[in-house]
Amino acid sequence: MDHELAHQILLSSNWGTPDHYFCGILAGRPCSQVVHGSRNSLRRHLKKEHGVIMNGTKVPCTWLGCLEQQQGGNLPRHILRHHLGFRWECSHCTSRLPRDDAIRRHRDISDEEGCKTATAVVFPGPGGVWI
Ligand SMILES: [Zn+2]
Ligand SMILES: [Zn+2]
Ligand SMILES: [Zn+2]
Repeated sequence: MDHELAHQILLSSNWGTPDHYFCGILAGRPCSQVVHGSRNSLRRHLKKEHGVIMNGTKVPCTWLGCLEQQQGGNLPRHILRHHLGFRWECSHCTSRLPRDDAIRRHRDISDEEGCKTATAVVFPGPGGVWI
């Protein structure tokens, strides 16, 4: 199973909330594109349109002038949490998850049987737009 597919199985979307956002990156050429609020889409967009190198090298996050130093590879996650206000919960017990892939660890450590097969429910942050 490829990684992307495996990742999708762990997530269940909170349908009904817009989950596309205007890109807020200010560095480089002006960007008025709409990006899907997911790590994969942000990763692709940051790489292609803003030349961000997705590795451990630290770069300033230029989303609306944030300037916090982040590893390039962590920038998509940083943007989702800190700038787009995404939240993730266990679909069984509604425990708050620090990030989407934390459901794996939660499945392992939870005492509740229902959590063993739970997915991460995604709650897109405010400010999303329909496309
Ligand atoms: Zn952009
Ligand atoms: Zn930032
Ligand atoms: Zn749970």
